[in-house]
Amino acid sequence: MAILMDGKALAARLRQQIKDEVALLTQQGIQPCLAVILVGDDPASCFYVANKEKDCAECGIRSIKYVLPAGTTEQELLALIARLNNDPAVHGILVQLPLPKGLSAAKVITAISPSKDVDAFHPENVGRVMQGKYTFAPCTPAGVMKLLEAYNIPVEGRECVVIGRSNIVGKPQAMLLLHANGTVTMCHSKTANLAEVTRRADILVCAVGIVNFVTADMVKPGAVVIDVGMNVNAEGKLTGDVDFPAVEKITSYITPAPGGVGPMTRAMLLENTLTAAKMAAQA
Ligand code: NAP
Repeated sequence: MAILMDGKALAARLRQQIKDEVALLTQQGIQPCLAVILVGDDPASCFYVANKEKDCAECGIRSIKYVLPAGTTEQELLALIARLNNDPAVHGILVQLPLPKGLSAAKVITAISPSKDVDAFHPENVGRVMQGKYTFAPCTPAGVMKLLEAYNIPVEGRECVVIGRSNIVGKPQAMLLLHANGTVTMCHSKTANLAEVTRRADILVCAVGIVNFVTADMVKPGAVVIDVGMNVNAEGKLTGDVDFPAVEKITSYITPAPGGVGPMTRAMLLENTLTAAKMAAQA
């Protein structure tokens, strides 16, 4: 039977550590502050932003929410970002994606100062992650690495397979595993003989977005399986990409979904905001 990698519990421990460090920094006159910009009223985005505010409050991080109407122009949004870039009391800036039609996410992300880009989506931070010399790593892959570390799962020399090649999950995940000296293979929708590739994995990370995508025949017995997927199944329940009941039986470690990677992603945003504030304090 697999060991469950409890992201919820690990994230709670991380939040406590972050809270302690935030309190120390605040005593020194620097309260970490995250500015979150929400454009429009997409229900999922509103939910994610509310969670971010709640997480910040729990850790003593100040959060400022900017809710802009869906009709906001790019110029208006860029002006707000420029103002926040220049505000020394703001340490992290996050623009909730996706943006409404007509607004270029690439342009908006590039406008955020790299030193305040706590999502690590700015091209400069993407490049730093690629080089392995980064301050911020994207929250989801960084959270996966923390989970592996917390469960003492070695990466060095092991076959790591990442399914999914998005800029926010798959690609940076592959880079972080590579920096940890894993032998990394990336898979995507055009990969031939996917199951043959995934069966080689000692560590399999799936970030596809399809319910029950990873089935037991795709997994090597004893592998570590990390389920990044966040989907709603036919019964309306939140679920990952992995056919959990079947896959769990043959893995050594597995993340539940929900309760695995999701809480770690949230915790890493807090950690990145704290890091940004510490950097500002040292500047
Ligand atoms: P995305 O941008 O839609 O990327 C999905 C990736 O899956 C693409 O690279 C795509 O390949 C690949 N793919 C699709 N069908 C495939 C197939 N049949 N075989 C192999 N690969 C296939 O999604 P994302 O933003 O990376 O997110 C992926 C999942 O993770 C979603 O469920 C999302 O909700 C979840 N997520 C969870 C968290 C968390 O904190 N737990 C955070 C972020 C995302 P191509 O590139 O060839 O199209």
